[in-house]
Amino acid sequence: MPFQLFQKIRNTIEQVVGGGRGVDEELYEELEASLIQADINVQTTQRLIGALRRAVEEEGIRSIQQAVEALKREMVAILEVGDPSTMGLKEASLPPTLYLVVGVNGVGKTTTIAKIAHMLQSRGKRVILAAGDTFRAAAIDQLAEWAQRTGTDLVRHREGADPSAVIYDAIRAARARSVDYVIADTAGRLHTRSNLMEELRKIHRVAERELERVPDEVLLVLDATTGQNAISQAKLFMKYIPITGIVLTKLDGTARGGIVLSIADDLKLPIKLVGTGERLEALEEFNARRFVDRLLE
Ligand code: GDP
Repeated sequence: MPFQLFQKIRNTIEQVVGGGRGVDEELYEELEASLIQADINVQTTQRLIGALRRAVEEEGIRSIQQAVEALKREMVAILEVGDPSTMGLKEASLPPTLYLVVGVNGVGKTTTIAKIAHMLQSRGKRVILAAGDTFRAAAIDQLAEWAQRTGTDLVRHREGADPSAVIYDAIRAARARSVDYVIADTAGRLHTRSNLMEELRKIHRVAERELERVPDEVLLVLDATTGQNAISQAKLFMKYIPITGIVLTKLDGTARGGIVLSIADDLKLPIKLVGTGERLEALEEFNARRFVDRLLE
């Protein structure tokens, strides 16, 4: 993953320490600018700088290595949101496991659904896709194409049908066919915002009634290249539906991996998966330590 800006952050620390100045005020200022440039918001940047400052004052840090370690430690603390049981995708003890996938059109929702199906199938699981974006015929067709390519079953209704009926049918079909997972697509049109949000609420309610538990994951897909915009989108969705985790797409297409930190710190939601390309295999389960090590190699 190309994280040029993080390379710059590292260079900043190196220059200052290498120049024999130690960890000083100028370093903090340069670091602050670089972190913000890397799409980390002001609040999170200040949290990181604060942690570094404390490490310097309390632990007497003087070397680049130690400074980077202190920063990494705080980044991991930010990224490990919630208790360890929220890490990774939840699996129901009583199948089918249901994942509702929500997000604005264009963020990579459909591709992500196909990638998750592919990942689960490669682990020997059986998957049904539910074409819950009945607002657009093209969305149903696109999901059908992915279902064919990944060899998963698909439950679809006609354009304009009630999306919660599609998801209800998919849960029923999964039970009848002993399928392990239902992954449900949902609409992502934002121009008729209130309708969409009511629709999502209804889907959630109908699924909960049928499963006799809440959906196992409600995954919000966000596009990393949209920066702070992604955070505003998340806040809107969170007002209406209980999001359990984030999938961050297009991390291959941005030098601004810092958005990952802003999302975790600002939304306090775990990042479950990251998309790193257009191919089916380009999906990774998010691991905070590994991610941070890669940022500041
Ligand atoms: P949707 O409207 O949210 O369902 O978005 P799509 O799944 O149709 O994806 C929109 C575009 O983003 C497509 O061209 C995808 O190939 C692309 N895309 C999705 N995920 C990723 C990713 O992780 N990296 C890159 N580079 N492109 C992606």
